[in-house]
Amino acid sequence: SFASPQHHTDTALAITGVHKRFDKVTVLKHIDLQVRQGEMLCLLGPSGCGKTTLLRIIAGLEAQTSGRIVQNERDISWLPPVKRDYGIVFQSYALFPNLTIAENVAYGLVNRKKPRAEIAARVAELLKLVGLPTSGEKYPAQLSGGQQQRVALARALATSPRLLLLDEPLSALDALERIRLRGEIRRLQQKLGVTTIMVTHDQEEALSMADRIVVMNHGVIEQVGTPNDIYERPATPFVADFVGKVNVLPAVALGQGRFRAGRLELHCSGERGDYAPGQAVRLYLRPEDRAVGHEREGQPNRVSGEVRKVEFLGSSCLAEMQIDELDGQALQLCFSLNQLHDLGIQAGARIDLALRSERIRVFP
Ligand code: ATP
Repeated sequence: SFASPQHHTDTALAITGVHKRFDKVTVLKHIDLQVRQGEMLCLLGPSGCGKTTLLRIIAGLEAQTSGRIVQNERDISWLPPVKRDYGIVFQSYALFPNLTIAENVAYGLVNRKKPRAEIAARVAELLKLVGLPTSGEKYPAQLSGGQQQRVALARALATSPRLLLLDEPLSALDALERIRLRGEIRRLQQKLGVTTIMVTHDQEEALSMADRIVVMNHGVIEQVGTPNDIYERPATPFVADFVGKVNVLPAVALGQGRFRAGRLELHCSGERGDYAPGQAVRLYLRPEDRAVGHEREGQPNRVSGEVRKVEFLGSSCLAEMQIDELDGQALQLCFSLNQLHDLGIQAGARIDLALRSERIRVFP
Protein backbone atom coordinates (compact mmCIF):
# COMPACT_ATOMS: atom_id res chain seq x y z
CA SER A 1 0.00 0.00 0.00
CA PHE A 2 0.96 3.63 -0.44
CA ALA A 3 -0.24 4.57 3.03
CA SER A 4 1.27 7.90 4.03
CA PRO A 5 2.17 8.69 7.65
CA GLN A 6 -1.03 10.68 8.26
CA HIS A 7 -3.13 7.86 6.79
CA HIS A 8 -4.75 6.32 9.86
CA THR A 9 -6.60 3.03 9.84
CA ASP A 10 -9.79 4.85 10.79
CA THR A 11 -9.62 6.72 7.49
CA ALA A 12 -12.25 5.40 5.09
CA LEU A 13 -11.37 7.77 2.28
CA ALA A 14 -8.26 9.87 1.76
CA ILE A 15 -8.49 12.62 -0.82
CA THR A 16 -5.12 14.15 -1.66
CA GLY A 17 -4.49 17.15 -3.89
CA VAL A 18 -7.64 16.72 -5.95
CA HIS A 19 -7.76 19.43 -8.58
CA LYS A 20 -10.45 19.91 -11.21
CA ARG A 21 -10.54 22.17 -14.23
CA PHE A 22 -13.34 22.38 -16.80
CA ASP A 23 -11.67 23.95 -19.84
CA LYS A 24 -10.23 27.14 -18.39
CA VAL A 25 -12.31 27.22 -15.22
CA THR A 26 -10.80 25.82 -12.04
CA VAL A 27 -13.57 24.29 -9.95
CA LEU A 28 -11.57 22.46 -7.25
CA LYS A 29 -8.19 23.65 -6.00
CA HIS A 30 -5.98 20.92 -4.55
CA ILE A 31 -8.49 19.47 -2.11
CA ASP A 32 -7.10 17.44 0.80
CA LEU A 33 -9.66 15.66 2.94
CA GLN A 34 -9.75 12.58 5.15
CA VAL A 35 -13.10 10.93 5.74
CA ARG A 36 -13.28 8.81 8.89
CA GLN A 37 -14.70 5.33 9.12
CA GLY A 38 -18.42 5.42 9.90
CA GLU A 39 -18.83 9.17 10.00
CA MET A 40 -21.45 11.32 8.34
CA LEU A 41 -19.60 14.09 6.54
CA CYS A 42 -21.48 16.97 4.94
CA LEU A 43 -20.04 19.01 2.09
CA LEU A 44 -21.64 22.42 2.60
CA GLY A 45 -21.30 25.50 0.46
CA PRO A 46 -23.06 27.93 -1.86
CA SER A 47 -24.09 27.07 -5.39
CA GLY A 48 -21.08 26.65 -7.65
CA CYS A 49 -18.49 26.08 -4.88
CA GLY A 50 -17.59 22.66 -6.31
CA LYS A 51 -19.18 20.33 -3.75
CA THR A 52 -21.15 18.30 -6.32
CA THR A 53 -18.09 18.02 -8.53
CA LEU A 54 -16.08 16.66 -5.58
CA LEU A 55 -18.78 14.07 -4.85
CA ARG A 56 -18.91 13.06 -8.53
CA ILE A 57 -15.12 12.66 -8.59
CA ILE A 58 -15.31 10.39 -5.53
CA ALA A 59 -17.98 8.38 -7.39
CA GLY A 60 -15.88 8.19 -10.56
CA LEU A 61 -18.64 9.99 -12.52
CA GLU A 62 -16.25 12.85 -13.20
CA ALA A 63 -12.48 12.59 -13.65
CA GLN A 64 -10.22 14.82 -11.57
CA THR A 65 -7.58 16.81 -13.45
CA SER A 66 -5.02 15.61 -10.89
CA GLY A 67 -4.91 14.19 -7.39
CA ARG A 68 -5.47 10.88 -5.64
CA ILE A 69 -8.33 9.12 -3.87
CA VAL A 70 -7.66 6.14 -1.64
CA GLN A 71 -10.57 4.16 -0.20
CA ASN A 72 -9.73 1.78 2.64
CA GLU A 73 -6.10 1.54 1.43
CA ARG A 74 -7.16 0.93 -2.19
CA ASP A 75 -6.19 3.55 -4.76
CA ILE A 76 -9.44 4.21 -6.66
CA SER A 77 -8.29 7.45 -8.33
CA TRP A 78 -8.76 6.21 -11.88
CA LEU A 79 -11.20 3.32 -11.46
CA PRO A 80 -14.49 3.44 -13.37
CA PRO A 81 -17.64 3.75 -11.21
CA VAL A 82 -18.51 0.03 -11.37
CA LYS A 83 -15.12 -0.92 -9.92
CA ARG A 84 -15.65 1.37 -6.92
CA ASP A 85 -17.42 0.42 -3.71
CA TYR A 86 -20.24 2.89 -2.97
CA GLY A 87 -23.98 3.46 -3.16
CA ILE A 88 -25.33 6.79 -4.34
CA VAL A 89 -28.58 8.74 -3.99
CA PHE A 90 -29.34 11.73 -6.20
CA GLN A 91 -31.60 14.71 -5.68
CA SER A 92 -34.05 13.52 -8.34
CA TYR A 93 -34.88 10.05 -7.03
CA ALA A 94 -33.69 8.50 -10.33
CA LEU A 95 -35.65 5.27 -9.89
CA PHE A 96 -36.36 3.11 -12.93
CA PRO A 97 -40.02 3.99 -13.67
CA ASN A 98 -40.82 0.71 -15.42
CA LEU A 99 -39.50 -1.48 -12.61
CA THR A 100 -41.37 -2.22 -9.39
CA ILE A 101 -40.04 -0.91 -6.09
CA ALA A 102 -38.68 -4.37 -5.25
CA GLU A 103 -37.00 -4.62 -8.68
CA ASN A 104 -35.47 -1.18 -8.21
CA VAL A 105 -34.00 -2.17 -4.86
CA ALA A 106 -32.82 -5.50 -6.27
CA TYR A 107 -31.03 -3.87 -9.20
CA GLY A 108 -27.44 -4.02 -7.93
CA LEU A 109 -27.93 -7.51 -6.52
CA VAL A 110 -29.27 -8.85 -9.83
CA ASN A 111 -26.27 -7.29 -11.59
CA ARG A 112 -24.04 -9.20 -9.22
CA LYS A 113 -25.90 -12.40 -10.06
CA LYS A 114 -26.91 -13.15 -6.49
CA PRO A 115 -29.22 -16.18 -5.97
CA ARG A 116 -32.90 -15.30 -6.33
CA ALA A 117 -33.91 -16.28 -2.79
CA GLU A 118 -31.08 -14.27 -1.30
CA ILE A 119 -32.14 -11.22 -3.33
CA ALA A 120 -35.77 -11.53 -2.23
CA ALA A 121 -34.76 -11.75 1.42
CA ARG A 122 -32.40 -8.81 1.14
CA VAL A 123 -34.97 -6.65 -0.65
CA ALA A 124 -37.57 -7.39 2.02
CA GLU A 125 -35.05 -6.52 4.72
CA LEU A 126 -34.12 -3.22 3.03
CA LEU A 127 -37.73 -2.16 2.42
CA LYS A 128 -38.44 -2.81 6.07
CA LEU A 129 -35.36 -0.81 7.03
CA VAL A 130 -36.62 2.26 5.14
CA GLY A 131 -40.18 1.90 6.41
CA LEU A 132 -41.82 0.61 3.21
CA PRO A 133 -42.31 -3.10 3.94
CA THR A 134 -45.49 -3.45 1.85
CA SER A 135 -44.61 -1.33 -1.20
CA GLY A 136 -42.50 -3.86 -3.12
CA GLU A 137 -45.06 -4.51 -5.87
CA LYS A 138 -45.83 -0.84 -6.52
CA TYR A 139 -44.24 1.35 -9.17
CA PRO A 140 -42.28 4.55 -8.44
CA ALA A 141 -45.04 6.83 -9.79
CA GLN A 142 -47.40 5.45 -7.14
CA LEU A 143 -45.17 6.71 -4.31
CA SER A 144 -44.66 10.19 -2.88
CA GLY A 145 -41.33 11.99 -3.33
CA GLY A 146 -40.24 11.11 0.19
CA GLN A 147 -41.16 7.46 -0.30
CA GLN A 148 -39.28 7.36 -3.61
CA GLN A 149 -36.21 8.77 -1.90
CA ARG A 150 -36.46 6.04 0.75
CA VAL A 151 -36.48 3.49 -2.08
CA ALA A 152 -33.44 5.17 -3.65
CA LEU A 153 -31.73 4.88 -0.28
CA ALA A 154 -32.60 1.18 -0.02
CA ARG A 155 -31.29 0.64 -3.55
CA ALA A 156 -28.04 2.43 -2.72
CA LEU A 157 -27.54 0.26 0.39
CA ALA A 158 -28.53 -3.05 -1.21
CA THR A 159 -25.02 -4.30 -1.92
CA SER A 160 -23.78 -3.20 1.54
CA PRO A 161 -21.32 -0.64 0.16
CA ARG A 162 -18.64 0.70 2.48
CA LEU A 163 -19.42 4.23 1.34
CA LEU A 164 -22.74 6.03 0.86
CA LEU A 165 -22.83 9.16 -1.29
CA LEU A 166 -25.82 11.50 -1.03
CA ASP A 167 -26.15 14.36 -3.51
CA GLU A 168 -28.69 16.87 -2.12
CA PRO A 169 -31.04 13.95 -1.35
CA LEU A 170 -33.64 16.07 0.44
CA SER A 171 -33.83 19.25 -1.59
CA ALA A 172 -36.69 18.10 -3.85
CA LEU A 173 -38.93 17.31 -0.87
CA ASP A 174 -41.40 19.53 0.97
CA ALA A 175 -40.35 20.99 4.33
CA LEU A 176 -42.07 18.41 6.54
CA GLU A 177 -40.81 15.39 4.57
CA ARG A 178 -37.33 16.87 4.50
CA ILE A 179 -37.15 17.12 8.28
CA ARG A 180 -38.61 13.65 8.75
CA LEU A 181 -36.18 12.09 6.29
CA ARG A 182 -33.21 13.93 7.83
CA GLY A 183 -33.79 12.01 11.04
CA GLU A 184 -34.42 8.72 9.24
CA ILE A 185 -31.27 8.93 7.11
CA ARG A 186 -29.18 9.83 10.13
CA ARG A 187 -30.61 6.97 12.22
CA LEU A 188 -30.08 4.47 9.42
CA GLN A 189 -26.55 5.71 8.77
CA GLN A 190 -25.63 5.33 12.43
CA LYS A 191 -27.33 1.93 12.75
CA LEU A 192 -25.42 0.57 9.74
CA GLY A 193 -22.25 2.47 10.61
CA VAL A 194 -21.80 3.27 6.92
CA THR A 195 -19.34 6.05 6.04
CA THR A 196 -21.44 8.72 4.36
CA ILE A 197 -20.69 11.87 2.39
CA MET A 198 -23.64 14.17 1.79
CA VAL A 199 -23.68 17.26 -0.40
CA THR A 200 -25.98 20.05 0.73
CA HIS A 201 -26.34 23.80 0.44
CA ASP A 202 -28.67 23.82 3.46
CA GLN A 203 -26.78 24.77 6.62
CA GLU A 204 -29.54 23.57 8.92
CA GLU A 205 -29.42 20.15 7.27
CA ALA A 206 -25.64 19.98 7.69
CA LEU A 207 -25.72 21.23 11.30
CA SER A 208 -28.41 18.74 12.31
CA MET A 209 -27.13 15.64 10.50
CA ALA A 210 -23.34 15.74 10.25
CA ASP A 211 -20.61 14.39 12.50
CA ARG A 212 -18.34 16.81 10.65
CA ILE A 213 -18.99 19.55 8.14
CA VAL A 214 -16.70 20.58 5.30
CA VAL A 215 -17.44 24.19 4.37
CA MET A 216 -16.43 24.92 0.78
CA ASN A 217 -16.20 28.16 -1.17
CA HIS A 218 -14.81 28.81 -4.66
CA GLY A 219 -13.22 25.37 -4.95
CA VAL A 220 -11.38 25.41 -1.63
CA ILE A 221 -12.13 24.05 1.83
CA GLU A 222 -12.66 26.92 4.27
CA GLN A 223 -13.04 24.77 7.37
CA VAL A 224 -13.59 21.18 8.51
CA GLY A 225 -15.14 20.67 11.92
CA THR A 226 -18.01 19.44 14.04
CA PRO A 227 -21.27 21.38 13.67
CA ASN A 228 -20.49 23.02 17.02
CA ASP A 229 -16.97 24.02 15.89
CA ILE A 230 -18.24 25.47 12.66
CA TYR A 231 -20.92 27.51 14.39
CA GLU A 232 -19.05 28.66 17.47
CA ARG A 233 -15.52 28.89 16.14
CA PRO A 234 -15.76 29.80 12.46
CA ALA A 235 -12.24 29.84 11.04
CA THR A 236 -12.92 32.47 8.41
CA PRO A 237 -15.33 35.36 7.80
CA PHE A 238 -16.89 33.31 5.01
CA VAL A 239 -17.78 30.48 7.41
CA ALA A 240 -19.13 32.92 10.00
CA ASP A 241 -21.31 34.51 7.33
CA PHE A 242 -22.46 31.36 5.58
CA VAL A 243 -23.39 29.31 8.64
CA GLY A 244 -25.88 31.02 10.92
CA LYS A 245 -26.80 34.68 11.15
CA VAL A 246 -24.15 37.16 12.15
CA ASN A 247 -23.74 40.89 12.80
CA VAL A 248 -20.59 42.45 11.41
CA LEU A 249 -19.18 45.57 13.11
CA PRO A 250 -16.31 47.55 11.61
CA ALA A 251 -13.87 48.37 14.43
CA VAL A 252 -10.34 49.44 15.24
CA ALA A 253 -8.00 47.47 17.52
CA LEU A 254 -6.88 49.19 20.75
CA GLY A 255 -4.62 46.34 21.89
CA GLN A 256 -5.07 43.72 24.62
CA GLY A 257 -8.38 42.39 23.36
CA ARG A 258 -10.04 45.79 23.21
CA PHE A 259 -11.62 47.33 20.14
CA ARG A 260 -13.36 50.58 19.30
CA ALA A 261 -16.61 50.37 17.36
CA GLY A 262 -18.41 53.69 17.05
CA ARG A 263 -18.31 55.29 20.52
CA LEU A 264 -18.06 51.92 22.21
CA GLU A 265 -14.96 50.30 23.63
CA LEU A 266 -15.54 46.57 23.35
CA HIS A 267 -13.77 43.78 25.19
CA CYS A 268 -13.38 40.59 23.21
CA SER A 269 -12.13 38.04 25.71
CA GLY A 270 -12.55 35.00 23.50
CA GLU A 271 -10.09 36.17 20.91
CA ARG A 272 -6.47 35.06 21.18
CA GLY A 273 -5.25 36.66 17.97
CA ASP A 274 -3.58 39.88 18.99
CA TYR A 275 -4.19 42.85 16.80
CA ALA A 276 -1.84 45.82 16.75
CA PRO A 277 -3.40 49.05 18.02
CA GLY A 278 -4.83 50.95 15.09
CA GLN A 279 -5.49 47.90 12.91
CA ALA A 280 -8.86 47.83 11.18
CA VAL A 281 -10.88 44.71 12.00
CA ARG A 282 -14.38 43.32 11.77
CA LEU A 283 -16.17 42.05 14.85
CA TYR A 284 -18.60 39.15 14.32
CA LEU A 285 -21.44 38.73 16.77
CA ARG A 286 -24.27 36.18 16.55
CA PRO A 287 -27.83 37.39 17.33
CA GLU A 288 -27.95 35.24 20.50
CA ASP A 289 -24.67 36.59 21.90
CA ARG A 290 -26.22 39.28 24.04
CA ALA A 291 -27.16 39.45 27.69
CA VAL A 292 -30.31 41.09 29.02
CA GLY A 293 -31.95 41.54 32.43
CA HIS A 294 -30.01 40.06 35.36
CA GLU A 295 -27.59 38.23 33.01
CA ARG A 296 -26.29 41.64 32.10
CA GLU A 297 -24.97 42.40 35.59
CA GLY A 298 -21.19 42.45 35.82
CA GLN A 299 -20.81 42.20 32.05
CA PRO A 300 -18.68 44.60 30.02
CA ASN A 301 -19.83 45.88 26.64
CA ARG A 302 -23.05 47.45 27.91
CA VAL A 303 -25.17 49.16 25.32
CA SER A 304 -28.64 50.62 24.96
CA GLY A 305 -30.82 50.88 21.96
CA GLU A 306 -34.21 51.17 20.40
CA VAL A 307 -36.08 48.25 18.89
CA ARG A 308 -36.87 49.04 15.26
CA LYS A 309 -38.77 45.91 14.33
CA VAL A 310 -39.46 42.40 15.54
CA GLU A 311 -39.66 39.30 13.38
CA PHE A 312 -41.31 36.20 14.85
CA LEU A 313 -39.54 32.89 14.23
CA GLY A 314 -41.86 30.64 16.22
CA SER A 315 -40.21 29.83 19.55
CA SER A 316 -38.00 32.93 19.36
CA CYS A 317 -37.91 36.28 17.66
CA LEU A 318 -35.34 38.39 15.88
CA ALA A 319 -35.26 42.07 16.80
CA GLU A 320 -33.54 44.77 14.84
CA MET A 321 -32.07 47.22 17.36
CA GLN A 322 -30.51 50.57 16.72
CA ILE A 323 -27.61 50.84 19.18
CA ASP A 324 -26.89 54.32 20.62
CA GLU A 325 -23.17 53.71 21.26
CA LEU A 326 -22.67 52.38 17.75
CA ASP A 327 -23.85 55.69 16.30
CA GLY A 328 -27.14 54.16 15.42
CA GLN A 329 -25.84 51.07 13.65
CA ALA A 330 -28.43 48.32 13.77
CA LEU A 331 -27.85 44.85 15.23
CA GLN A 332 -30.01 41.78 14.70
CA LEU A 333 -30.52 40.21 18.11
CA CYS A 334 -32.61 37.21 19.01
CA PHE A 335 -34.76 36.75 22.09
CA SER A 336 -36.91 33.99 23.49
CA LEU A 337 -40.64 34.65 23.64
CA ASN A 338 -40.38 34.83 27.43
CA GLN A 339 -37.76 37.57 27.15
CA LEU A 340 -39.92 39.29 24.59
CA HIS A 341 -42.78 39.52 27.09
CA ASP A 342 -40.68 40.14 30.23
CA LEU A 343 -38.64 42.95 28.65
CA GLY A 344 -41.49 44.36 26.59
CA ILE A 345 -39.58 44.00 23.34
CA GLN A 346 -41.59 45.66 20.58
CA ALA A 347 -41.03 48.32 17.96
CA GLY A 348 -40.17 51.61 19.68
CA ALA A 349 -39.15 50.07 23.04
CA ARG A 350 -35.79 50.95 24.59
CA ILE A 351 -33.68 48.05 25.90
CA ASP A 352 -30.42 47.82 27.86
CA LEU A 353 -28.15 44.94 27.06
CA ALA A 354 -24.57 43.71 26.99
CA LEU A 355 -22.68 42.18 24.07
CA ARG A 356 -21.04 38.98 25.29
CA SER A 357 -17.29 39.58 25.26
CA GLU A 358 -16.36 35.89 25.08
CA ARG A 359 -18.55 35.33 22.02
CA ILE A 360 -17.30 38.12 19.78
CA ARG A 361 -14.98 36.93 16.99
CA VAL A 362 -12.44 39.19 15.40
CA PHE A 363 -11.26 38.99 11.79
CA PRO A 364 -8.84 41.33 10.00
P1 ATP B 1 -24.67 23.45 -7.14
O1 ATP B 1 -25.28 23.23 -5.80
O2 ATP B 1 -25.21 24.62 -7.86
O3 ATP B 1 -24.59 22.21 -7.99
P2 ATP B 1 -21.94 23.00 -6.47
O4 ATP B 1 -21.22 23.59 -5.34
O5 ATP B 1 -22.33 21.59 -6.35
O6 ATP B 1 -23.17 23.89 -6.84
P3 ATP B 1 -20.65 22.21 -8.84
O7 ATP B 1 -21.89 21.61 -9.42
O8 ATP B 1 -19.61 21.29 -8.36
O9 ATP B 1 -20.99 23.21 -7.70
O10 ATP B 1 -20.03 23.18 -9.93
C1 ATP B 1 -18.89 23.96 -9.67
C2 ATP B 1 -18.56 24.79 -10.90
O11 ATP B 1 -18.19 23.94 -11.97
C3 ATP B 1 -19.72 25.61 -11.39
O12 ATP B 1 -19.24 26.88 -11.75
C4 ATP B 1 -20.19 24.86 -12.62
O13 ATP B 1 -20.73 25.75 -13.55
C5 ATP B 1 -18.93 24.21 -13.13
N1 ATP B 1 -19.21 22.93 -13.83
C6 ATP B 1 -19.76 21.85 -13.28
N2 ATP B 1 -19.85 20.85 -14.17
C7 ATP B 1 -19.32 21.33 -15.33
C8 ATP B 1 -19.12 20.80 -16.64
N3 ATP B 1 -19.46 19.53 -16.92
N4 ATP B 1 -18.55 21.58 -17.57
C9 ATP B 1 -18.20 22.85 -17.27
N5 ATP B 1 -18.36 23.41 -16.06
C10 ATP B 1 -18.91 22.67 -15.09
